[in-house]
Amino acid sequence: MSSDLARLGVAEAADGLAAGDCSAVELVEACIAAQEAARDLNVVVADTAERARAAAVHADQRRRRNEARPLEGIPVAVKDIFCTEGVATTACSRILDGFVPEYESTVSARLWEAGAILVGKTNMDEFAMGSSNETSRCGPVRNPWSPVDGPSLVPGGSSGGSAAVVAASAVPAALGTDTGGSIRQPASFCGVVGLKPTYGRCSRWGIIAFASSLDQAGPLTRSVADAALILEHIAGFDPRDSTSADLAVPDLHAALQGNVKGLRVGVPSEYRLDSLPSSISDLWEQGIVWFRDAGAELREVSLPHTRYALPAYYIVAPAEASANLARYDGVRFGARSMGTDPDELYTRTRRDGFGEEVRRRIMIGGYVLSEGYYDAYYLRAQQVRTRIAEDFRQAFQDVDVLLTPTTPSSAFPEGDKTDDPLAMYVNDIFTVPASLAGLPAISVPAGLDEAGLPLGLQLVGRAFDEVTLLQAATILEDAAGTFRPPTVAA
Ligand code: GLN
Repeated sequence: MSSDLARLGVAEAADGLAAGDCSAVELVEACIAAQEAARDLNVVVADTAERARAAAVHADQRRRRNEARPLEGIPVAVKDIFCTEGVATTACSRILDGFVPEYESTVSARLWEAGAILVGKTNMDEFAMGSSNETSRCGPVRNPWSPVDGPSLVPGGSSGGSAAVVAASAVPAALGTDTGGSIRQPASFCGVVGLKPTYGRCSRWGIIAFASSLDQAGPLTRSVADAALILEHIAGFDPRDSTSADLAVPDLHAALQGNVKGLRVGVPSEYRLDSLPSSISDLWEQGIVWFRDAGAELREVSLPHTRYALPAYYIVAPAEASANLARYDGVRFGARSMGTDPDELYTRTRRDGFGEEVRRRIMIGGYVLSEGYYDAYYLRAQQVRTRIAEDFRQAFQDVDVLLTPTTPSSAFPEGDKTDDPLAMYVNDIFTVPASLAGLPAISVPAGLDEAGLPLGLQLVGRAFDEVTLLQAATILEDAAGTFRPPTVAA
């Protein structure tokens, strides 16, 4: 019974709670037990069980008093990059060891205000830099789709823990962040839904910054409807984030009832890479057929600057990271390595506190922003970014959404790409263009490859048109069905 409860989606759990079929205490206990049973996946980095139990008692009391809020009693896991008041938050970096925020990120605060309950802070790549969750100082996450007796497969990254905990049915929903693909790519690798909203749709306040012009929070869930439900509660204007958009949040859940007759779906020809495995190109073709069968109109479109997106991203993101990470000096937060003078203290703290990938990004960032190289790299990358946004603007004159693969491969074995940063960066080839343009995008589980591993298809929408994006995503979901790792018994 209890493990069945952990398998409920957000909407199902909300219905079950409302009907009195289960209590918040039972639901939270089921998720805690499921996370415990999935310990070897290494998904959870901060234990929140006691706090969650207390919150569940409170949720049940509110319900008995007829004061239940929309997400009353729904367990949600949160990536360790969201500051959670009174709960250790380290972005899985040694440099934030011992940091316990005195404030709550806006996005997570909104979930708790709607009645949801924090059940687990999830593992991630250090400071969200990575595509495999292997840069985490808390160790790698095992993808629940890894063969029982075989090697560990990575869950993707950087929101690897959030994707894996949802895929393992140990919580109905988790929050992640996406800078260049960190929600969508792990969602694809773990067979779950991952939604990156439009830049500005959700507040970044209280989220540890990686690249501020790209970072965006969003949900990982087992269904498109659940992603919509969570988005509805985390979105909206926040005066504390000057880049958050002052726009009303549409009724996203109701929007899923709409139909897609006449929807124009674009297929960008530049995404047809020769190196794409046939399982992925076949699945993409299948997606096209599903849309056609559902009454959509398919059009080939061109995004001519696509091939410059990845190099531009790996200039812009490290540049912003190098500025954002300058604040970790051992004086104000987290870990400190002592020195005989302040300079030595800063140097030692940063050398001991940051992992290899983070140091690499800081060095690249410093380099591309330095005098003499700024114009050649940073300025150039910004110009490319404008072109990419313009490509999308043009395409969206003819179509309503774009359909692409999410990733150029399925989940790969741990250690496979750790010695080759460029091979790791290529994971983001299909996800970074939408990030650079600030557009909403979603990965929907669409099929399995020949090894039986999940693959996602990505949809990209117009800025602030999450409604159409989610409507289109339900077409994929209805056609493809849902996927559970074989290790999580049916
Ligand atoms: N994998 C990309 C990177 O390492 C994206 C990370 C992210 O979206 N946070 O930068």
